[in-house]
Amino acid sequence: MSTARAEMPGIVMTDGLEALSACNVCRSVAIQQLDPECNLCRCSDCGYVFDNPRPNEQTITRFYSQRGKYDSWVRDAAARDALWKRRLKMLLRYHAPGNLLDVGTGIGQFLHHARAHFTEVAGTEISESAVRIAGERYGLEIQQRRIEELRLPDASFDNVTLFHVLEHVPEPARLMRRCHQLLRPGGIAVIAVPNDVLAWGSGLKKLGKRIALRPFQKFSRVAGIAKAGTSREIHLSHFTPVVLRRLLTHAGFEIVEEGLDPYYAASGVWKLAHGLYYAVHRVIFKLSGINRYETIWMTARKKGEFTRLLN
Ligand SMILES: [Zn+2]
Repeated sequence: MSTARAEMPGIVMTDGLEALSACNVCRSVAIQQLDPECNLCRCSDCGYVFDNPRPNEQTITRFYSQRGKYDSWVRDAAARDALWKRRLKMLLRYHAPGNLLDVGTGIGQFLHHARAHFTEVAGTEISESAVRIAGERYGLEIQQRRIEELRLPDASFDNVTLFHVLEHVPEPARLMRRCHQLLRPGGIAVIAVPNDVLAWGSGLKKLGKRIALRPFQKFSRVAGIAKAGTSREIHLSHFTPVVLRRLLTHAGFEIVEEGLDPYYAASGVWKLAHGLYYAVHRVIFKLSGINRYETIWMTARKKGEFTRLLN
C-alpha cells in the first residue's frame, strides 16, 4: 500500500469538466490512468475506477434537468412499478421501523410505493423536471437539492435509500458519510449501483479483465459523450463489490446484506427472460459469492444500534 494521501481530491475546472488528483474512496494520490481517451482512472491502492477528467456538477445538473429526460420513465411506468415493488420487497427484509429518505428519487415512483410502509417518506433530487413530475404525478414534495446542502438534523432518519445514485455523484464517500450522519444509530442504508467493471453483460467488462491483465489498452467509454447530451446517463464512478464495501465501511456502516439489484424494467417476454437471467445470477452469487450480474445491492447498518435503546 502506498502511504501517499491527499486531504481533499484536487479539482481543476475547465470548460464544464474537472480533474481529480486523489481517490474519493481512500484519498490516495496513487492514481493510475487506464486510458486517456476514455477518461478512466483507477486508484492503485483501493481499486476504485472513476472517470477523470469528468463533467463538473453544473454540467451534470443541467444534463439531468433537460426537458423530456424522464419521459421514458413516465412512459414505462407500469414496467417500472414492478421494478420498484421488487426493490421495496428487498428493502423491507432489513428496514428499520420509522421513516425513509430516498436520495436521488427521480420522479418519485419508489416513494409512492414505499410510503405505506413507513411513518413518513422524503426525497431529494437535483433534476428540476423530475421534481416537477413527482409533484404532479404522485403529490410528492421533493427537495430539489443535494442532501449535503439541505439543513436536515443529524440522526433524523431510520432508513436511507440510494438507487443508482452513488455512481452519478462527484463525491460518493462524502455522500455516504452524510447519510451516516442523517441516520439514527442502527438505521439502514440501501445502496444499489451498476456492476460496471465485473458484470458479464457490462460494456466495461473488458476493463475488468484489463485491470488484471493489460491496464493500458484502449476502451471506448467517454464521459465527454454526456457533455454533448447524447448519453442517457453520466456515470462518474464504476464500482465493484469490494470497493463499495470498503466505501461503506469507511463511512461507519456494517454490511448486513449483499446481493444483486433487480433493476430491470421490462414487460412481456423480456420481463420473463430477464427474470430468468437474474435468477441464474442469484444462484451463481449464492453458490460462489461472485457477482457477475449488471448490478450490486448492499444493505448496510449504521453502527451503534444499541445506543438508541439506551437513549
Ligand atoms: Zn482509493
